[in-house]
Amino acid sequence: MRRVYLDHAATTPLDPQVFEAMVPYWKEHFGNASSVHALGRKARFAVEESRERMAALLGAEPSEIIFTSGGTESDNAALKGMLAGSRTHLITSAAEHEAIVNPAEQMHAAGRPVTLLTPEPTGAVAPEQVEAAMTAETGLVSLMHANNEVGTLTPLSAIAEVCRAHSVPLHTDAVQTAGLFALKVDELGVDLLSLSAHKFYGPKGIGALYVRSGLDFTPLVEGGAQERRRRGGTENVAAIVGMVTALEQAVNEAEARTGHLQYLKQRLVTSLRAALEDSFVFNTPIETDARVAPHIVNISFPPQEGEPLDGEMLLLNLDMEGVLASAGSACTSGALEPSHVLLALGRDRATAAAAVRFSLGKVNTEDDVVFAVEKLTRIVRRMRGGI
Ligand code: PLP
Repeated sequence: MRRVYLDHAATTPLDPQVFEAMVPYWKEHFGNASSVHALGRKARFAVEESRERMAALLGAEPSEIIFTSGGTESDNAALKGMLAGSRTHLITSAAEHEAIVNPAEQMHAAGRPVTLLTPEPTGAVAPEQVEAAMTAETGLVSLMHANNEVGTLTPLSAIAEVCRAHSVPLHTDAVQTAGLFALKVDELGVDLLSLSAHKFYGPKGIGALYVRSGLDFTPLVEGGAQERRRRGGTENVAAIVGMVTALEQAVNEAEARTGHLQYLKQRLVTSLRAALEDSFVFNTPIETDARVAPHIVNISFPPQEGEPLDGEMLLLNLDMEGVLASAGSACTSGALEPSHVLLALGRDRATAAAAVRFSLGKVNTEDDVVFAVEKLTRIVRRMRGGI
């Protein structure tokens, strides 16, 4: 059966060249990077060389890169590591990934000051909202670069200006954009940045956190002296090498990859409109001023004559017919709750619960898009009692 994978915002397949680059570090170069002998030195060299390559890609210093276990850890480390001092107020948004929203809610429950901004209907937070939320206690602003469910980009450089004026560090979760755009921390204006390798054709379970030098950062994971005492634990050498290889490849191909994705996305938008007419709504902003990532198209089916569409059943039907998509964040799939992002964007519960997120990748073709829209149209008609 033909299968079309349209869930690249959840994860991407490991690139074969990336896999090849990792293999020697599972086999002959298996040393612990903290060991002083030859095998340890080989591993240490690979880790530090990878750190230099990653820093160069981000326009950072090698000492500003901390290797972590992925996006979730990087986000947690940014929040907890920056708010452990005297300025404990966090400003973030209700449409952030769970890796930000959940620790923020825990901080709030523990009695710490947290402002969860309500994004505009596009999903973006405006600089004015950040300005209005600033207090003398604000220790961090954390806003994602691209939303993982709807794709909206945050106007980071305008927000960075607000943060600079208040001397407040700005963290961004760039998990969805690292590898799509050639990100430079100074151009974005951020002081901390999270990324995760499995979103750009690298391995799972490895990520990085950029922390601008001079910031007072408390480690989340304490242990040995690894990562300049900012993240204890034996380095995952093979994964680190794989992540940097994948990021380098992505940055080199960024223009071609985004051009291809933009073309497919436009094709998908046009086909959805033609096939489904006004029976659906776009959750991803289309034809608005909002800037949007090139790989995500999120749509919902509002109730018709009071009848909601079962979103989970829709995804299962798509899966059975060979179209692999998701309802939003993979972390919430399996739960019946509608997406917190779509609710934060003002969708009613029934519409939010009947959502499909298509996320495109570098190997998708125009034919894949046509196939997915055909299947979706047939399934929706069937579920709505047509033929
Ligand atoms: N942040 C965003 C925006 C994401 O899309 C994801 C993954 O779904 C994460 C964080 C979590 O990253 P990881 O899977 O590496 O923990």
